[in-house]
Amino acid sequence: NLAKKSGTNYEIYHSEYGIQLSKKIKIENDLRNALDKNEFQMHYQSQFDLNTGKLIGLEALIRWKHLKEGFIPPSEFIPIAEESGLIVEIGNWIMSEVFKQAKAWLDQGLEPIQFSINISSKQFKDEGFINRVKSLLKETNLPPKVLNFEITETVLMENIKKALDVIEQLKEIGICIAIDDFGTGYSSLSYLRNLPVDRLKIDKCFIDEITKHHGDQVIVRAIIDLGKQLGMSIVAEGVELLEQHNYLREKGCIIGQGYFYHRPSPIEAIIDSKVKMILANNL
Ligand code: C2E
Ligand code: MG
Ligand code: MG
Ligand code: MG
Repeated sequence: NLAKKSGTNYEIYHSEYGIQLSKKIKIENDLRNALDKNEFQMHYQSQFDLNTGKLIGLEALIRWKHLKEGFIPPSEFIPIAEESGLIVEIGNWIMSEVFKQAKAWLDQGLEPIQFSINISSKQFKDEGFINRVKSLLKETNLPPKVLNFEITETVLMENIKKALDVIEQLKEIGICIAIDDFGTGYSSLSYLRNLPVDRLKIDKCFIDEITKHHGDQVIVRAIIDLGKQLGMSIVAEGVELLEQHNYLREKGCIIGQGYFYHRPSPIEAIIDSKVKMILANNL
């Protein structure tokens, strides 16, 4: 009886593991073909200057619409793309798409804004990264100052020497740099002082309870102050409510991004809603 029971347990354990593993392998296999099948699309989310209400930038966010499985979120496939190394190729496609889009935006005479691109760990460390960026800039004839590359705090701190080297090269090209998900990694403040970073993005987890939680308020105000003293601009991520928006604006946060303003959407939808590019005055 006992033997049978443990046998059953083993089978259950084993098959669950099998399912998880095969799902991962399937995603990895399908990722290899997703570019050829045109299954990726870039969406964009607006970033607003909280004082003037003006649109100052768009963050590019990849979307994968699998022909059979439907929508697969980045949180599910980016780590697999990262692990398998496919992220370098996908990342090159993302840069090419966004550079072209940014150029088209300028050519249409729309107000000048920055385009933010998330750069993943492997992509950032890849030997060919800087040259790829340079050649894409040349191909698209895009002024580099239009670009803002987002690198997570964790990636930065993994290898600070290497990170500093890459960031300095990007800065030399003229590209702006943001630290993404700030506050969730372990930033060494002494390094932060020396990093030529333009922007800190306060992670959503500090914004969620910002109007209620004293601890979060202290942290967010400290980050705003730190950024200001170091000459960096501050973005609050994941602003969903008017109260959060009001709190952040009152405390001197410079930029807001979140569902409260706009959800990520195809660029056409953003261009169509030109009216919404300036937040209503009563906010
Ligand atoms: P992230 O760069 O920190 O992006 C912010 C995420 O928060 C996005 O999720 C965005 O859709 C979501 N978000 C924005 N405002 C709100 C809000 O008010 N409420 C809530 N609940 N969520 C909000 P998404 O697009 O699913 O991306 C998740 C993560 O996947 C990104 O975090 C980034 O790390 C990665 N990712 C997304 N697109 C790309 C890409 O093109 N390249 C790379 N390397 N990574 C990407
Ligand atoms: Mg980001
Ligand atoms: Mg983030
Ligand atoms: Mg994030």
